[in-house]
Formats: sequence, C-alpha cells, structure tokens
Amino acid sequence: MNKAVFIDRDGVINEDLGKYVANPDEFVFLPGAIEALKKLHDSDYKVIVITNQGGIGKGVYTEKDLAAIHSKMRKMLEKEGVKLDGVYYCPHHPNEACECRKPRLGLINKAIKEHRIDPKRSFFIGDKTSDIKAGKDVGCKTFLVRTGYAGHDRAYDVEPDFVVSDILEAVNIILTTK
Ligand SMILES: [Mg+2]
Ligand SMILES: [Zn+2]
Repeated sequence: MNKAVFIDRDGVINEDLGKYVANPDEFVFLPGAIEALKKLHDSDYKVIVITNQGGIGKGVYTEKDLAAIHSKMRKMLEKEGVKLDGVYYCPHHPNEACECRKPRLGLINKAIKEHRIDPKRSFFIGDKTSDIKAGKDVGCKTFLVRTGYAGHDRAYDVEPDFVVSDILEAVNIILTTK
C-alpha cells in the first residue's frame, strides 16, 4: 500500500483569485509551492491534487480550459523535475449533489483505489473547511494552510490536525514526522 499527500489546488498550490481560475494566464503558483511539490515528489509519498472546479458546471469555463490550465501547471512543474501522480477534479455545479465535490469523497476514493493508497498513512492539505472535512472523513491527517481562504469559509465545523502558514511548511512537517 502506498502513502500519499492529497493537495487542494486553488489557494494551496496557486493563488486563489477570489474568482475562478478560468485560463492558464490566471494560474499563478504561490511562493514555496513548487519547492514543496518537489520535496514531496522526491519522497516516498504519492502527490495527488484533488480540486473542485464548479466553474465548469456554472459555465464560466470549459473542461478544455481546465485541461489547458493543468497542462501549464504540469509543464512548469516538469521544468523543476516534478511530476504529479494524479490530478482529480469535480466539474459539477455546486448544487448538483454529485458524489465527487469535496467534502464528498468520490474523487479521493477514486485516487485511493487507482494508486492503492492507505489513507491512514496519508495527509490532506487544503485552505477550506471542505478540504479538512474530506481529509478527516477519509482517515487522513489534515493541514489547514493560511494561504487562500485560510479556513475562513467556515462552511463545516472541523478541526484540522495542523494549522500552518503554507504548503511548504506542511510538507516540511510531513517529511520530518515519522
Ligand atoms: Mg482551495
Ligand atoms: Zn462532482
């Protein structure tokens, strides 16, 4: 069984603009994010992005736009020698009651199955309470970062295991904790 770090995208890896990231130009890495992903890539953790992209369901941008955004993300990471093990997204409208929109577990469970992951030895890093709820519900240890929404959405009443300044601090803790 593998272990993994599940990572939310907007507000953790890249700047959350307070609106949807609708094209590659609007995808901007947060300080320390590439370094953090590189450290994880060089470790024995799988690196898996789990992201809600409700803007697709709302018609703000298309799956093709999202593919272009993720292609830019992967290319910029590949330049630094970083490869993501998986990028999973929910394209549905927030009101659609799908199985995959966080805090629901459809995407994470799919990743767990496809990569043979033991959630008990894995972590979830996010900036919203929906990330923390999903991580906890699936049995991971959770990190709330102070970038992006920094947990201020208050949509769910959940306590993260750790509160850290950003993804790099989270990764440093993960890699020094045995
Ligand atoms: Mg986020
Ligand atoms: Zn969905």
